Amino acid sequence: MEKKNIDWGSLGFGYIKTDYRYVANYKNGAWDEGGLTTDDMVTISECAGVLQYAQTVFEGLKAYTTEDGRIVTFRPDLNGERLENSARRLEIPVFPKERFVDAVVEVVKANSAFVPPYGSGASLYLRPYLFGTDPVIGVKPATEYQFRILTTPVGPYFKGGIKPLTLRVCDFDRAAPRGTGHIKAGLNYAMSLHAIVDAHNQGYDENMYLDAATRTKVEETGGANFLFVTKDGKVVTPKSDSILPSITRRSLIYVAQHYLGLEAEEREITLEEVKDFAECGLCGTAAVISPVGKIVDHGKEICFPSGMTDMGPITKKLYETLTGIQSGRIEAPEGWIKEIC
Ligand SMILES: *Cc1c(COP(=O)(O)O)cnc(C)c1O
Repeated sequence: MEKKNIDWGSLGFGYIKTDYRYVANYKNGAWDEGGLTTDDMVTISECAGVLQYAQTVFEGLKAYTTEDGRIVTFRPDLNGERLENSARRLEIPVFPKERFVDAVVEVVKANSAFVPPYGSGASLYLRPYLFGTDPVIGVKPATEYQFRILTTPVGPYFKGGIKPLTLRVCDFDRAAPRGTGHIKAGLNYAMSLHAIVDAHNQGYDENMYLDAATRTKVEETGGANFLFVTKDGKVVTPKSDSILPSITRRSLIYVAQHYLGLEAEEREITLEEVKDFAECGLCGTAAVISPVGKIVDHGKEICFPSGMTDMGPITKKLYETLTGIQSGRIEAPEGWIKEIC
């Protein structure tokens, strides 16, 4: 497969149109057989459910080239499962996870000329999404839906090298108890836009959200889960029903326990104890882990001993092991790597 003439190393995180996308439509109570299309435009009613009441959920994953030249994705079955759960919560018909994985394979294969080569640090980002397409004006679920996967090549996350982030404790809440914080829905992002624009204006990289009920416990940022390392080298991540179950975070906990021989635990974490941790990172598909150097709580600074120039030592080990597994340099647990071609 001849690769497209793209300067992979200088790619950012933006939309670049590729040749194919996957589309399936739901009508009269069933999904059609679906398939690839070259048409990048979506034509829907001006009154579509997604436009009126934000009835849409999504996923995010990457396809990339391994050291030995295979094109693969990382645990797409978990993205398919999570999309099923997200859909159920918003009364969207489930797009079955087996069909999800097949669609991922099909759309990546078709766009393999856009999958960056090994070593470029770049990847093909996949954005699967589901949305209500038929007219809805009284508040109720749509009856017709579309499932799509668009793809776009994206550059390496740590382009100018690794730079630890500065966060602020956010005065806005991200998710209510028993709300929708645990699903991957555009609505959770729409309400975070004001908070992130404000954070950037104040010179912070990200918001640390607290639990809405007591505002004493750590939840997550707008788009990544927290991971902390204690001073005695234990990995801990916040447990809450209102954070998004990050596939990266779950994989890192497994790596900590089974590859690095570390203790790892998911438990409630209070804001009060954050100052006692040795390392802090944000986990998600985009960066795997971005180190956090400093968290500012209304003028009070929490500075992690790992500092503002590099990842902490355990964060780095976790990062190197998981990216090693993903790129085929380290043997992966059964079922983690889905080979496309
Ligand atoms: C997608 C997402 C994450 C990261 O999940 P991954 O599966 O690791 O990519 C974390 N938090 C939120 C709110 C998200 O939407």
